[in-house]
Amino acid sequence: GSTVECPPDSEALGRSTWTFLHTMAAYYPNQPTVPQQQGMQIFLRQFAQVYPCGHCASHLRSEMKTDPPRVNSRADLSQWMCETHNKVNDLLGKKIFDCSKVDERWRDGPKDSTCD
Ligand code: FAD
Repeated sequence: GSTVECPPDSEALGRSTWTFLHTMAAYYPNQPTVPQQQGMQIFLRQFAQVYPCGHCASHLRSEMKTDPPRVNSRADLSQWMCETHNKVNDLLGKKIFDCSKVDERWRDGPKDSTCD
């Protein structure tokens, strides 16, 4: 009937996944411990192995070789994630996102109270 929920296509999966990845970066510690940094490295490496869009994962793995994840701090990881997403945006002909706005988009919301 009309209430059936369809499996996600690669666009819906992508939107949900970017929400998760940017939010994860936005709440990563400012000064992560070495184990936290190692954990994030391992997570991202595994993520790029199992992401269930084969050509997306393959593209991500090659991007991660040329520009490895920067896990030193919340700010570095957030910028790396933004730049990585922008490479996909560029590939798909989507708008390039202004990476100075990642905290506003994924953590703080705009200065007016729209998102409070
Ligand atoms: P999305 O690109 O999903 O973005 C969601 C929201 O994030 C936007 O509305 C915007 O508010 C915000 N945003 C946009 N850019 C940035 C940024 N740089 N930094 C922070 N926030 C931002 N699709 C393919 O067809 N081919 C691929 O190779 C491919 N690779 C992918 C790799 C990964 C790791 C992921 C997670 C997804 C990939 N996708 C790929 C899916 C694609 O990136 C989009 O998610 C999908 O096309 C839906 O796009 P969208 O326009 O809804 O916005």
